[in-house]
Amino acid sequence: DVAELVEQRRQGSTEPGATVAYAPRGGWPNDPYTRRDEHYGTLRALLSGEIAPETVIGNLKDSGLRGMGGAGFPTGKKWEIVRAQDTGVKYAICNADESEPGTFKDRQLLAEQPHLVLEGMLMGMVVAGAEEGTVFIRHEYGPEEGVLDAEIRHLHDIGLLGDDVLGSGQRLSLDIFTSPGGYILGEETALIECMEGHRGEPRNKPPFPGVYGLWGKPTLMNSVETFADVPIIASRGASWWVEQGTNGSGGLKFFAVSGHVEHPGVYCVPMGTTIRELLDLAGGVAGGAGLHAVQPGGASSDFLGPEHLDVPMDFGTLAEAGSMLGSGAMVVIAEGTDALAAATNVLRFFRNESCGKCVPCRAGSTKAHDLLTDTLHNGGELDDARKARLRELEMVMRKTSICGLGQVAMGPVVSVLNREEPGAQS
Ligand code: SF4
Repeated sequence: DVAELVEQRRQGSTEPGATVAYAPRGGWPNDPYTRRDEHYGTLRALLSGEIAPETVIGNLKDSGLRGMGGAGFPTGKKWEIVRAQDTGVKYAICNADESEPGTFKDRQLLAEQPHLVLEGMLMGMVVAGAEEGTVFIRHEYGPEEGVLDAEIRHLHDIGLLGDDVLGSGQRLSLDIFTSPGGYILGEETALIECMEGHRGEPRNKPPFPGVYGLWGKPTLMNSVETFADVPIIASRGASWWVEQGTNGSGGLKFFAVSGHVEHPGVYCVPMGTTIRELLDLAGGVAGGAGLHAVQPGGASSDFLGPEHLDVPMDFGTLAEAGSMLGSGAMVVIAEGTDALAAATNVLRFFRNESCGKCVPCRAGSTKAHDLLTDTLHNGGELDDARKARLRELEMVMRKTSICGLGQVAMGPVVSVLNREEPGAQS
């Protein structure tokens, strides 16, 4: 029973030590459906021909929706690329392997609105011409996987999965692939390698999965949140979506807020909400302490100090401020925290999770981590020579690593150095 599974998950979140606080029950304001028998209305319209695939793509383009998994690639463009491939067999994958420290928003969407995630995914399959879809989910998300499994069985029961869905002649099949574990498997090409039974190592890109994906076939891959946004945009219209944003941005965005904050949890806010507003929504810095910094895009994003509190949270504005939106995870750091130790902690995570395929990431993250732990724990001094070495390692890793893990691993460390010495950027 889906409701029971969600309740179990919710109760689990209140255990002592849990870092995830769920928003009050009752659904998110952006769900266009109020009753279960209304679910999948837009998918039905697409299958019956009432809405054309080109209209869906046009709507997505007009909405400005970008990938919410971190890369921010325009969703309409991605769907158009996969649809344009004329290779016959195509696949679709929902990337539900969110694993970055501080990132847990997809978990709530999967638990509470699986119908939006699966409807968006099935619409993508119809538009792109894929018959087989897979939700790739991290193995720690057992309760959410149970919710998804129940929803897929429900889709079979109501005839939206099968060999001839609603008499449309369209075959649609959905499956769940449980990740064997490892942060890097959330990288789209490492995920595909894993599904093919290989070591989970990223591929060199291009070609991108939209052209050469699973089993060498064009593959439509989006994150949980991106797919969940699609039926909302398709049913309410691109202009409605754009109007939901603020401060010049369009749409809505889920953020996971954690760290030194009164009410950690998942918040759905207008895209363009400022860092200050989101922090206020989450009750401010824990215990009324002052703010030292935030990482607006999760553990891999650069630190922004209190002087950036009025920056709107969106891809471009955060990049201009020197950080990134990432997958939408704001980590709050209170005054009195050793920021360099916090950044070293992040680096330790990336060092441990590096797949080891390329030397700059494998060796660079280890060298930098050794140097920092020597400084922090063994009385070593972070002198100018060491700072220069760290900056050099960051530059080499950013420019020569194959995938995002190596490219961003040193970012938080160098952002701490830059905040201490504003004129010394590399
Ligand atoms: Fe693997 Fe790191 Fe290279 Fe990415 S950057 S492929 S995680 S070694």
